[in-house]
Amino acid sequence: MSSASDISVKRHDHAGSWYAAQSQARELRPSLSGARQVQCVVVGGGLAGVSTAWLLARAGIEVVLVEAHRIGWGASGRNGGFVSPGFAEGVFEIEKRVGRSDARTLFDMSRGGVGFVEARIGELGLEGLVGGQGWLKVIRHSDMDMLKSRAARMARDYGTDYTLWPADILRQTLASEHYHGALHDPEPFHIDPLGYAEALAADAEKAGAALFEQTHAEWLHRREGRWQLDTLCLETGETAVIKADHVVLATSAYGSIHLADLYAPLDQAILPVATYVVTSEPLGSRLDEVIRFPGCIADTRRAGDYYRVVGKGDERRLLWGGRITTRRSEPFRLADMLKADILEIYPQLGDFKIDYAWSGLMGYTRRKMPVIGELEPGIWAATAFGGHGLNTSAMAAQLVADAIVHGDEQWTLFKRFHPGTIDRMAGGNSPVGRVATQAAYWSMQARDWWEERQAQ
Ligand SMILES: Cc1cc2nc3c(=O)[nH]c(=O)nc-3n(C[C@H](O)[C@H](O)[C@H](O)COP(=O)(O)OP(=O)(O)OC[C@H]3O[C@@H](n4cnc5c(N)ncnc54)[C@H](O)[C@@H]3O)c2cc1C
Repeated sequence: MSSASDISVKRHDHAGSWYAAQSQARELRPSLSGARQVQCVVVGGGLAGVSTAWLLARAGIEVVLVEAHRIGWGASGRNGGFVSPGFAEGVFEIEKRVGRSDARTLFDMSRGGVGFVEARIGELGLEGLVGGQGWLKVIRHSDMDMLKSRAARMARDYGTDYTLWPADILRQTLASEHYHGALHDPEPFHIDPLGYAEALAADAEKAGAALFEQTHAEWLHRREGRWQLDTLCLETGETAVIKADHVVLATSAYGSIHLADLYAPLDQAILPVATYVVTSEPLGSRLDEVIRFPGCIADTRRAGDYYRVVGKGDERRLLWGGRITTRRSEPFRLADMLKADILEIYPQLGDFKIDYAWSGLMGYTRRKMPVIGELEPGIWAATAFGGHGLNTSAMAAQLVADAIVHGDEQWTLFKRFHPGTIDRMAGGNSPVGRVATQAAYWSMQARDWWEERQAQ
């Protein structure tokens, strides 16, 4: 079994994921050297950074992107691959904070992020990276009324088209006694996110963006009316300097785990939260006995399981994600832990091997909303998407690129989520946020357990 232990593996290696095993071996891009001046520098080569660089280059802006490891090395190349509208924070919670009208606008913007990914897949001929369409949100308790009213409210206020699947119908599709009903959402789809990030990066280069890997952004400061970024190659120790009018910070959780912050007001507000994914050995037709749905599947628990079938024919495997923790090192028996979660739902699968197991860090702020827009003149953020970043990173890239290129101000709708003093106490390396988040997770698990017990 292949496993990755996060930041302790060779710095430019990808996590030992199923995606990395699928991806074509590619030469590392060179690290940045010497001194340069450009209009815009993007820090971070995850989907937020790559999408921003792609958009800026296509608009004719001279852009350099620096990535400490390699493109897609962070959460963007390790996630579950579900592309769906919405945010890490639930839409009804957002509505409580900003009102229905702004919540609808935000939801529509997040839907635009789904559209962006869909459009790039079509334009770049990446259909092979798409695994399936639709999302089943299953419940492990028996409160169908809750699902019904959620579907009705989402249709009325957010224009969604969910269908209710009662237990008898659902069990023809997912053979688990733990599920008591579901909502089917036709809009989401799932992709190989690492393949997508790599393809978008290559296309950004074609459009004129200069991408550098193994280049850690060390120090950001103002000099002679421009921003100066000092970088260090993590492999060779070579340093470089880049001056720019605009800096886009797209460093997410991996920006805040280093001891020295690149931009403290942001890094200190982002709490890294780890989560895990495994992929089974090829199970082929054995999967048909339990899962007859090609799309995304997730339960509605506060900290639930999410999974999908990947690969084709006899090579089909189960890709399964779950659990969260503020612990940063990978658990000793990660594969066994998630295999036990799978067998709890589908004991019929019997014995099988886990071929790949890996972890990734998501960047959360206290408010579970992304940080997008200008933090001070010339400093832009496109970050903190939590566990819902495939659409929102694309949305953020569009907002930031439109602002830099055209002076567009749509991003200001996110200004209310920019971190303040309290947020800075909750993130980064502060123990306060870690303890509070871990406690919140345990409390969520306890509430899920109680609801499921009542259903039984
Ligand atoms: C296991 C897992 C499952 C998930 N599943 C889903 C899902 O199914 N659907 C969904 O929508 N979202 C999912 N997410 C969330 C989603 O993956 C993230 O929100 C999204 O990828 C974040 O993209 P990003 O570009 O902001 O950050 P990242 O992809 O983490 O990229 C940040 C990059 O910045 C680089 N960096 C940091 N500091 C520096 C520095 N100082 N100098 C240079 N480079 C630096 C890092 O090396 C890293 O490559 C999941 C996340 C995880 C971890």
